[in-house]
Amino acid sequence: MNVYFDNAATTPLDPEVLDAMLPFMREHFGNPSSIHGHGRQVRAAIENARKTIAHLINAAPAEIVFTSCGTEADNYAASGSVKTLGLKHGITSQLEHHAVLHTMQALEKCGDIQLSYLRHDAQGRLDLEHLEELLATHPRTFVSLMHANNEIGNLNDIVTIGDICARHNAVFHTDTVQTMGHYRHDVQKLKANFLVGSAHKFHGPKGVGFLYRRSGLAVDSLIHGGSQERNQRAGTENVYGIVGLAKALEIAYRDMAAHQRHIQGLKDRFIEKLRAEVDGVEFNGTSADADHSLYTVLSVSLPPSELNEMLLFNLDINHISVSGGSACTSGANAGSHVLNALNCDPARGTIRFSMSKYNTEEEVDYAVEQLAKMYRKVPA
Ligand code: PLP
Repeated sequence: MNVYFDNAATTPLDPEVLDAMLPFMREHFGNPSSIHGHGRQVRAAIENARKTIAHLINAAPAEIVFTSCGTEADNYAASGSVKTLGLKHGITSQLEHHAVLHTMQALEKCGDIQLSYLRHDAQGRLDLEHLEELLATHPRTFVSLMHANNEIGNLNDIVTIGDICARHNAVFHTDTVQTMGHYRHDVQKLKANFLVGSAHKFHGPKGVGFLYRRSGLAVDSLIHGGSQERNQRAGTENVYGIVGLAKALEIAYRDMAAHQRHIQGLKDRFIEKLRAEVDGVEFNGTSADADHSLYTVLSVSLPPSELNEMLLFNLDINHISVSGGSACTSGANAGSHVLNALNCDPARGTIRFSMSKYNTEEEVDYAVEQLAKMYRKVPA
């Protein structure tokens, strides 16, 4: 068996998405900025893709800006807001993806903002009273707090965070890279100024993403050059990527309920079997709590053992691809910044299983079997 359980890193391309992209690789090669027929044809495809995405998240097409990836969209939202709107204070959390964390830290280093980190508990649950306190004393703040954590799967209550930010007139960006295509986002209900999507996280192609930027919030482009994307993002568009992105999101929304049921079922099975068969197993963050975690991610914490060093290698030679992560063990091994922020025991081993619509129960059983061979529960 050859098993891929690393879907939070990237997902396989859906064949339907590839079919939608191929004509734009083979026949429709024009530059969308050209005003002749070849150009107009691909321009229309881009604008259709924009309309599709806008419709799915209940936004206006002009609020969608295509980017090269989620990281670029995160950078755009943070740098653009701070620099264009002259915001002097930023709030984020130590649990954010580096696309946000390093961007906010770079803005702090340049002297553009003073940066505050939101407190969280040992399971990574954010302290929203602290958010209220920080915003009460810092008007004109840029807040960046993710929807779901990519390592441990914690889901943050972005509806409440959005309400708090709106009450304090803060600009709210939420990194939705891990939830776009997995949950329904409605920007008419959610008080966020920015949302982010990255196609390769929901069976679309790599190298393309988008930023939802609420209308009325004019922020400067991150990349300067031509007037593409209504002057919001220079550079010739990744036409087949954009077509694939829209198709992938369309499919994700179309099949969402069935996929959510299927994947949550796999996750529940994983948890139950691991608890039954693996000695001393625990779950990081709120990963095992179905109401407060992303259904695609299960972060497993294994007991201290010399086996932990070779854990990923042992799974890999048994044809199981997963991501690891460890708390800091020494200065040389910085480990996972998320597990470190949660003060996880560095002696324990961590595996992130992240699932997609293509995974099966047999694959779950096989992965548990391999782990059980290493960490077998001794019958009482
Ligand atoms: N934000 C989160 C939460 C992610 O998980 C990732 C990718 O893993 C990114 C941002 C970056 O997205 P991209 O790979 O499209 O740059």
